[in-house]
Amino acid sequence: MKSRFKKKAIPFIATTVLATTALSTQTLFNEGSNQKAEAQSFSKEEVKKKDATWLAGDHHIHSEWSVGWDNSTNPPTAIRGGDAIYPTVKNAENAKKYGLDWMVTTDHGGPNHSKVNLEQAYPELLKSRQAVPEVLQFYGMEFDTPAADHSSLIIPKSDNESTTLYEIESQFNKREPFPNDGSRDTEETMIQALNFMKGLDELPIVIAHHPSRSATGIGVWGQDTPQEFRNWNDTAPNIAIGMEGAPGHQATSINSDGSNDPNGARGSYGNKNAPTMGGFDQMTAKVGGLWDSMLGEGRHWWITATSDSHVNWRDGGGDFWPGEYSKTYVKSVKDYENIMENLRNGHVFVTTGDLISELDIKVQAGGKSPLHAVAKGNSASIGETLTLPGKKSDVTVTIRLKDPNAANANGDKPNVKRVDLIMGEVNGKVSDKSTAENPTTKVVKRFTEADWKQDGEYISITYTLNDVDKDSYIRLRGTNTEQLEPAADPKGENPWTDLWFYSNPIFMQSSK
Ligand SMILES: [Zn+2]
Ligand SMILES: [Zn+2]
Repeated sequence: MKSRFKKKAIPFIATTVLATTALSTQTLFNEGSNQKAEAQSFSKEEVKKKDATWLAGDHHIHSEWSVGWDNSTNPPTAIRGGDAIYPTVKNAENAKKYGLDWMVTTDHGGPNHSKVNLEQAYPELLKSRQAVPEVLQFYGMEFDTPAADHSSLIIPKSDNESTTLYEIESQFNKREPFPNDGSRDTEETMIQALNFMKGLDELPIVIAHHPSRSATGIGVWGQDTPQEFRNWNDTAPNIAIGMEGAPGHQATSINSDGSNDPNGARGSYGNKNAPTMGGFDQMTAKVGGLWDSMLGEGRHWWITATSDSHVNWRDGGGDFWPGEYSKTYVKSVKDYENIMENLRNGHVFVTTGDLISELDIKVQAGGKSPLHAVAKGNSASIGETLTLPGKKSDVTVTIRLKDPNAANANGDKPNVKRVDLIMGEVNGKVSDKSTAENPTTKVVKRFTEADWKQDGEYISITYTLNDVDKDSYIRLRGTNTEQLEPAADPKGENPWTDLWFYSNPIFMQSSK
């Protein structure tokens, strides 16, 4: 997709702000209202940007076309509902019930499964779009990634979306050939797949799933490795854009009668040496770990949170419905193309348990007053890059989040207890692609109730980073717990007691 947001100053904001006598945080964040008359003077992208709101979604959802296989036939025969059990429309109805605006249907592959997707899953998706129009429903699959674990493959909505997926799945999905073809299961095939996708008119998105589920220790990687992520992202930076920060399968400790299963491991991360931390994958949860290592290269590598819904806990499975527990919020207007582009550009935060439902962060430089900074265009929000105006700049970080009063899907009203501001340096590409550390990344400030202003459901925080003189980034994290760092999740943990939200980063680039 060629229409990506340009990171240029938006003159309209400056006009609005300058005309406002009392500048408030409110003004900065509500720049879009009542300005329809001025819309003509802005590009389509700029208009969309100012009309954007936080739209919750889930890009990892299985339907009954995640089939089982009867291996007694040659080739194996697909068994509908053999792995996941719900029709797509039931997934969509639940997505709507739990507050999602968009979703992606992502069935597993298998021997000749590209035909199952084309002939069975896709027609069902078309019906589901009609039945539940309130939820935008992308087509995609859980790609059996060559030489790696699974990934979301999200196809841009178009008239050819079904054949686009068919071409990718049939040529590159590692489980597609029958009999099995080991040459599919190589990193070279994955790079070929990404190069094929790069040649398409409209670019798909690839997001790695449950990246450390097969890890055997902290930093002892399994099927997904830092090298692969870097190679994918180097090959196709606008396609291979990130990983699940929080995997699905988070209801494994909840029995169908609501009682506790002490053996349930969150995310099905069953190795006790490599569990989730606060429900998040260790690659994301460890400050200064792999995610920070990649951000420290200046990579646009984003995180998401999904359900991986196959069988709901009420029906004896270990999963939540789409949106019941995890949400990936994208700041966008509600259309397919715009959601895809804003996901691609990292205008994204994630939360579990509906701890928060909005998160706006602005960094501003270029003068003592935020008004001056905005007027000069020296500001950036989640997923963007701020250019620092001088060798050393004070950067004001303005945070505004919504801690909703409404009960979440468990009937709880969790409160944000703490918000952490995390900062790290950007020092260019690492020479050793297995690097999984960024020693410069630290929690630079922990905010509690005493540090913020609460106005109804909204919490506002302002903080100044003094004398920023290096290429760097910030990101935000918050929780309802007392844990200073997300602790390793014990088996049987009730996921509703241990909630976290994470922003994606904002980069800051020094002027050289
Ligand atoms: Zn998977
Ligand atoms: Zn899955």
